[in-house]
Amino acid sequence: MDKLAIVVPCYNEEEVLKIASEALRGVLQDLIRKGKITEDSFILFVNDGSRDRTWELIQEEHRAYPRQVCGVKLAANAGHQLALTAGLVTAMDMCDVTVSIDADLQDDVNVIEEMIDKFQGGCDIVYGVRRERKTDTFFKRTTAQMFYKLMHLMGVKTIYNHADFRLMSRRAVEEFSRYKEQNLFLRGMMPLLGYESDNVYYDRKERVAGESKYPLKKMLALAFNGISSFSVKPISLILGMGLFIVFVSFIALAYALISYCTGHVVPGWTSLILSIWFLGGLQLLAIGMVGQYIGKIYIEVKQRPRYNIEEILTCGEK
Ligand code: UDP
Ligand code: MG
Repeated sequence: MDKLAIVVPCYNEEEVLKIASEALRGVLQDLIRKGKITEDSFILFVNDGSRDRTWELIQEEHRAYPRQVCGVKLAANAGHQLALTAGLVTAMDMCDVTVSIDADLQDDVNVIEEMIDKFQGGCDIVYGVRRERKTDTFFKRTTAQMFYKLMHLMGVKTIYNHADFRLMSRRAVEEFSRYKEQNLFLRGMMPLLGYESDNVYYDRKERVAGESKYPLKKMLALAFNGISSFSVKPISLILGMGLFIVFVSFIALAYALISYCTGHVVPGWTSLILSIWFLGGLQLLAIGMVGQYIGKIYIEVKQRPRYNIEEILTCGEK
């Protein structure tokens, strides 16, 4: 049997904390009763530098249910992705499998069982995927969809409509913890691990209580981070644009020369227009070239693991 840790990042979640704790304890008890997880499975709340009573409430829950509720307190607000990482890495040594879920219970806790089934069937990562986004506002729905499309265009592998509701085996978290980068976009990183994965589907609900802790500003920052952390394609676009404009300026050269020869131009126009296009193109080309090197440096400084050895069959020893 496997020991489960449910990791919950919390930022100013005093309204929902007790409700979340109760619901998740219910899930644990149910799974324990069904013999799918061990009795010492637990919930790990990560307080992400909340300014309200969140941490006091976590302490209360811990006192009331010392075997089931644990807590981690970050000294300051680090942001959802880092708070979740802190929780996963802390839980890693204490369990066999983790499930990460938001505190607001927008994600369906009832599919955790299906996640565990898939894990026990051999998957290392199980993504929670929203079936539809009925409860999201029109704005959030369309911007999110545009974001997934853009990610795809930029060559970043992500699971469509998956946020951070996800099961990860201990070894998947261990492998993930070898990624030392500062700018995290977790859902983009998990496919890099290469482990066997699967999806479970659910309907996303409204927030139980409280307000979204992801205002537009944070959402845009996350989206930009998602692209810039995984793709140097924007730099290649500059290079491509430079090449294109230089090419166009050669066509313009031919056109201008013909115009010049047929004598239909104001003096000075030909040389002026050609210089503008050609030099503009050349500058973009040069920036793009420099960018290619910067892109390479960027990839190198991340020092991501280059591969993930899953298994070795050795010879000789018995
Ligand atoms: N959260 C966090 N740190 C932050 C912002 C959010 O730990 O700086 C947590 C928050 O408490 C919640 C989860 O991240 O558990 C997702 O936030 P929220 O539900 O507000 O985002 P939304 O569902 O509106 O995108
Ligand atoms: Mg939410």
